Parts: sequence; C-alpha cells; structure tokens
Amino acid sequence: MAEVVIVGGGPAGLNCAYHLAKGGKEVVVLEKHPFPVGKLCAGGLTLKDFKEGVPKEIVERSFSIHIIHTPSGQTTLKAKEPIVFTADRKKISQWLFERARRAGAIIERKRVTRIEDRAVITKDGKKINYHYLIGADGSLSLVRRYLNVPTINLVIAWQTSLPFPVSKMQWFMNPKLFGQGYGWIFPHRDKTMIGFGCSNLKDIPKTKKKFLFWIEERCGLKINTTFKAHPINSDYRGHQFGHIYLIGDAGGFASGLTWEGIYFALVSGREVARMILNKNYEARDLRALLSLKRRHERMVRMLHLPRPILTHLFECLRRALGISFLSQLIIKKYG
Ligand SMILES: Cc1cc2nc3c(=O)[nH]c(=O)nc-3n(C[C@H](O)[C@H](O)[C@H](O)COP(=O)(O)OP(=O)(O)OC[C@H]3O[C@@H](n4cnc5c(N)ncnc54)[C@H](O)[C@@H]3O)c2cc1C
Repeated sequence: MAEVVIVGGGPAGLNCAYHLAKGGKEVVVLEKHPFPVGKLCAGGLTLKDFKEGVPKEIVERSFSIHIIHTPSGQTTLKAKEPIVFTADRKKISQWLFERARRAGAIIERKRVTRIEDRAVITKDGKKINYHYLIGADGSLSLVRRYLNVPTINLVIAWQTSLPFPVSKMQWFMNPKLFGQGYGWIFPHRDKTMIGFGCSNLKDIPKTKKKFLFWIEERCGLKINTTFKAHPINSDYRGHQFGHIYLIGDAGGFASGLTWEGIYFALVSGREVARMILNKNYEARDLRALLSLKRRHERMVRMLHLPRPILTHLFECLRRALGISFLSQLIIKKYG
C-alpha cells in the first residue's frame, strides 16, 4: 500500500512527487522508461519555468531575437531581454528526478498496465494499492482513459534533431501548411530541434516536404534526419475525480495556443500535491494557470477563420511583432 501512487515520471509527476514527499506523504512514482527520460520535446523554456524552480544552470541557449517567417516574408522580433531559452530535456528530467528522490519519493521503473478502484497493476504483475492516484502519464494517459475523460483537442507535433547548432531561433506561420499551428527551429548548444504542429492532419508527408523546402529556401538548411511524432493534450476537463487526479498533459493542461507544456505540467503537479497535503488549500496558482489557458483558448477560437483570412491575419501578426511596443504587449498578454 502506498499513500499516493503517481503514474508517469515526466515534469508533472516528478514535481508533484517532490512536493508531496517534502510535505511528508509516502509517494511512489511509476515510470515506464529509464531515467533520465528523453521525451520528444523542443526543450523550450520561458521565464515562468524559472519561477517554478527550474535552475538557470540547465539553460543551454537564451533568445531575445526571434525570426518570424510567413509565406510573404520574415520579421525580426527583438525583445528587451531573452524570452525563450532552450535546455536538454534529459537534463530537466534528471534534475527533477534527483530533487524528488532527495525529498523522499520512491521512484520505480514500472509500466502500469491496469487500474482498479484502489490499486494499479504493473506489467510485471505487481499490485500496488493506493489511497490517492495521480495520472501524470502524458497525452495518451491510461488514468484518463480509466476515468472515461474524453480527449478531443489533441495536436500532433513532429520533430527532428540536427546534430549541430544553428544561430537563430525561428518560427514559421503558414495556415496552408499548419492550419492554426506553426513550425519552429530551436537551437541548443550542440544540436537543433526542428518541428511543426498541425491541427490539420490530412497529409503529413506533404506538409513535411513543403516545410523542409521552405526551411531550405529561407535558411539554407538541408534536412535529411527522421521526424518523430508525439501528441500534446490541451483538452482540460477537470483535475480532481474523487481520490484520483490528472495533472500535466494527462489532464490536458498544455497550452492550446503555444503548446508549451512543461510549465503547465510543473504548476499543475505542485498545486495538486498541495491540495492533497492540505484540504483547505485554495490553489490560487492553479486558478491562474487555468485562466492563462482560457486566454490561450479564446485566441485559438478566434483563429478558426477561413484560410485566406487567417493567412492575412498571420501576415499582420508578423508585422506587428516587428514593432517593439506591440511585440512587448503580445508577449505580456500571452507569454
Ligand atoms: C515535439 C514536441 C515539442 C515540444 N516542445 C515543447 C517545448 O519546447 N516547451 C514546452 O514547454 N513543452 C513542449 N512540448 C510539450 C511538453 O513536452 C509536454 O507538455 C510535457 O512533457 C508534459 O509533461 P507531463 O509530465 O505531463 O507528461 P510527459 O512529459 O509526457 O510524461 C509522462 C510520463 O509518463 C510515462 N508513462 C506514460 N504511460 C505510462 C504507464 N502506463 N506507466 C508508467 N509510465 C507511463 C511516460 O513514459 C512519460 O515519461 C513539446 C511536445 C512535443 C510533442
């Protein structure tokens, strides 16, 4: 019997485990992959992640200058200070893992294959009883499925890694290719993450081909490496279901606009831990997180426009981001 069982040792599960263990709870994290987990991710962080305790030493590169591409041109966004940072996802995992373990969390490499009302069953046939169960098992969450919580707003993101760094962080907006989504180039210290996310899943090979052609044309980069895909869940439908909780991507906490998920996973993990530790906890940060998510969703709904109008809107947005005071305003509202 464990007081709290957390399924999944990503940012949400490990941050939740750290806060629970620090608060004196007996907590077991079950993670199917070996640590440090190198989940498919661009490793992009924002200033918000540092407020959540992520150490600045983990950062590999910092970016105040961003190149924004649309089909008809490119604009340079110059922020007053770095607004996006890149870090190795395995290093983030290692730091979270060690912090949770030092606080007293038990972390085991086990795949959960079945869930029962008061127990989980692992692939090796072990039955672990729990008082509280936390689903931190990502976008394809077994815990969420056990709870019968539907998932509609799921974006598929595709990414490849080049074995060398490029100099600039770049963003690609083109409704013809990505619908309301976007493409990215995120440089790290010794590699570069290149990817895109689409709401329109109709013809991924064609989308990928056109995106690669665009990158070659604009940035002179010829890419032959393989792309991998992983879903991002922004479909939040509640976090507490009796004695079972959903956090991070399992709870649909990721932003539906930017698809940033690490910060949302960290905060939801911390807040749910505090709710379990203190029944009267007000969870103000969780409410603020959900309010930011709602702001992002309103923006996404506004982007449900006919393609020519959306293309025109993205052109205007690109130009606006090149104007200093407008870019500061947009970053402040949606960052
Ligand atoms: C291509 C791509 C790029 C991205 N780039 C960024 C970015 O730059 N910045 C950003 O903030 N976010 C980014 N995201 C989103 C971010 O990766 C996720 O939102 C974040 O990882 C969510 O954290 P989590 O802990 O909720 O879930 P995850 O990190 O997915 O962790 C879930 C864990 O649960 C484990 N698990 C699943 N099922 C089981 C099971 N049955 N038993 C045991 N363990 C299980 C998994 O192995 C995994 O380790 C990106 C996502 C993708 C796909």
